[in-house]
Amino acid sequence: MKLRDRLQDLLHHGFHRIGQIEILHGSSLPAHLPPSVAFLLHHQDDNDLDSLEVFHDPNAARQISTFADDGEYRFTKGQTNLRSGWAMHLSHLDDLLLALEGFYPAGFTLWAAKQNGTLEVQNLRDKLDRQTGMYRFARGISNPGAQALIQRVCGPAHQCAKKILWQLDATTPLDDSEASRFNGIASGLSEPHAIPLYCREACNHFVAECRKASKKEFDDKQAAASNTWTPPSASAYLAAPLIHFTKGISSSSSKPPPKRP
Ligand code: SF4
Repeated sequence: MKLRDRLQDLLHHGFHRIGQIEILHGSSLPAHLPPSVAFLLHHQDDNDLDSLEVFHDPNAARQISTFADDGEYRFTKGQTNLRSGWAMHLSHLDDLLLALEGFYPAGFTLWAAKQNGTLEVQNLRDKLDRQTGMYRFARGISNPGAQALIQRVCGPAHQCAKKILWQLDATTPLDDSEASRFNGIASGLSEPHAIPLYCREACNHFVAECRKASKKEFDDKQAAASNTWTPPSASAYLAAPLIHFTKGISSSSSKPPPKRP
């Protein structure tokens, strides 16, 4: 089934939410809109639809979704800080697909691929092994370090609304946590009313955090290694002059060393 047909079918079965976007269509559209508007998209938290800035171009989705309300750059479009205050009026299903792609790049495509059983996932070690330049140091992160990082960076508690599909490697699943259990639907709705957002490979933000964590692990090991030197015991200190003295005598004379008093 083509992507647009699948979207049509999904809408027919009650789909109206992806990420933080509410999709109105058919009888859910406000009555005063012209018949040319087939779909209205808005932030799920906006209730007064008449007060919103209106866009008609689906390509505006990329611009709307780049920065949060507070001006912060959104490191992944799956972040739960999509800015509000806008509405998008669209006339065609193809425009809806285009807009969804702008708000959540590949979000709908990944969902459809998972439904088809064709979704390819890249595990973390494979992702890190591909890194070059300064990011190649990310490879050094330990497995416990990576597991801890997932719980510090991923999941809705850290503003990411994606369900993680990858493992550390083929035989190492993620530790059980809120981040690893999250189903990718931040709104709390269920399918088919909402569809999940998927994370099929670690994002650039996560890779950058791996690099930092790997460096810290390295620095900590270096510091620990330099701290393993222990001062000699008091008896060793007391014995040391005699040993040196003894060596000095034996190297400068064939006489036996004097006895210690
Ligand atoms: S790696 Fe984590 S933070 Fe990045 S997109 Fe995936 S789930 Fe979100």
